[in-house]
Amino acid sequence: MSDEYDVELTEEHIMLRDMVRKFADNEIAPVVDKDENEHRFQRELVDKMAELGLFGCPIPEEYGGNNMGYLAHAIVTEEIGRVSGSLRVAFNMQTMGTALSILRWGSEELKRKYIPELMSAKMLGCFGITEPDAGSDTAAMSTTAVRDGDHYILNGRKMWITWAPVADMAIIFAMTDKKAKHKGMSAFVMDMHSPGVSTIAIKEKLGLWACPTGEVIMEDVKVPAGNLVGQEGHGFGHLMQELVSTRLSAAAGGVGTCQAAVDAAIKYATERRQFGRAIADYQMVQEVIARMVVETEAARALVWRCAIQKDRGLINNMRETVIAKFYACRAADEVPNLGLEVLSAYGYSNEYPIARILRDGKVYKILEGATNIMKMIIATDALGIKKANR
Ligand SMILES: Cc1cc2nc3c(=O)[nH]c(=O)nc-3n(C[C@H](O)[C@H](O)[C@H](O)COP(=O)(O)OP(=O)(O)OC[C@H]3O[C@@H](n4cnc5c(N)ncnc54)[C@H](O)[C@@H]3O)c2cc1C
Repeated sequence: MSDEYDVELTEEHIMLRDMVRKFADNEIAPVVDKDENEHRFQRELVDKMAELGLFGCPIPEEYGGNNMGYLAHAIVTEEIGRVSGSLRVAFNMQTMGTALSILRWGSEELKRKYIPELMSAKMLGCFGITEPDAGSDTAAMSTTAVRDGDHYILNGRKMWITWAPVADMAIIFAMTDKKAKHKGMSAFVMDMHSPGVSTIAIKEKLGLWACPTGEVIMEDVKVPAGNLVGQEGHGFGHLMQELVSTRLSAAAGGVGTCQAAVDAAIKYATERRQFGRAIADYQMVQEVIARMVVETEAARALVWRCAIQKDRGLINNMRETVIAKFYACRAADEVPNLGLEVLSAYGYSNEYPIARILRDGKVYKILEGATNIMKMIIATDALGIKKANR
């Protein structure tokens, strides 16, 4: 990262970044390839991240957070994402997709019960939106929640849920009135250990091997009525606003992926010699490095703009969030590809990190909304068809 960027950061941000960078380099980097190859989820590392207070940036101190804000959150997420795509997901599971949603719409009781547990990682979280037949079209979800006295009864199936096999709690989006379509959606905190909840791990996937992903099956699950997050029928609005938070983390993670690829390419280009010179001396290699650096810094600038806006109070900045998400997540796909050009055959082996970076970078264009959906929001806003920031 260039020094010029640091002028945007406070002393506090720089200290935080340096602390997380040291932690990531000393504690995660030495084990990341082994964990990925063995598909091992490192709960201990999540616990250490919690001990360092990394999940608490946008959360007030009274609920176990540190209130450092969204820019701090983006910096921390990038630094972890630079070293491990699998561990980067923790920022959405513990903070943006769970604790923050409860903070914004949940009752005081839910806030006190769940947020401190998520901050300390005593509980692991997850959130369930996607279903086998409802991906981008979230309002087509078929999971139902039917009121029965003091409870709701949940039935349905969620697909592609990060941390489903290891999570203790979930924010589940379900239809309380299917006929009302998106106006009939509601959000619930569901105990993942409740009777009727089961999970199936999705074991074979392209990347993020050290990150458990799975299906969540709900069969007559009794959820206390007090676990409704916000009001009944307001779930779609909450979902959209939750995505405005989780997309920032995805975008920041994408920047981390890009930076990892830049670092790997620079190291290799200066060490590898062909035709009697370091390949870094060749202008065609320099051209590739230049593109990688520019894409990374442009992505970071958009992510920071989005985070700074949130810190200034524009928390639902959908437009700037999807612009950052679109750019950074596309870069997370493209910059590692350029890195592979620099490392060439050695990049194709697992001996060097670029293969893992490339695999893990692919996911950013999919999760928290596919790239086409980001483009749709950006274009319909620009054309005046539908304002993104409302
Ligand atoms: C590793 C991983 C982890 C995930 N974690 C979670 C999680 O924790 N919780 C959760 O709820 N979900 C999670 N997801 C699911 C993710 O959010 C969805 O995959 C994503 O929203 C896209 O849905 P889909 O893959 O079903 O694609 P689809 O909606 O089926 O889209 C397929 C293609 O069609 C395009 N498309 C769809 N509609 C349109 C349109 N109207 N205009 C133009 N193009 C369109 C899309 O851009 C895409 O290219 C995860 C996914 C992965 C891969």
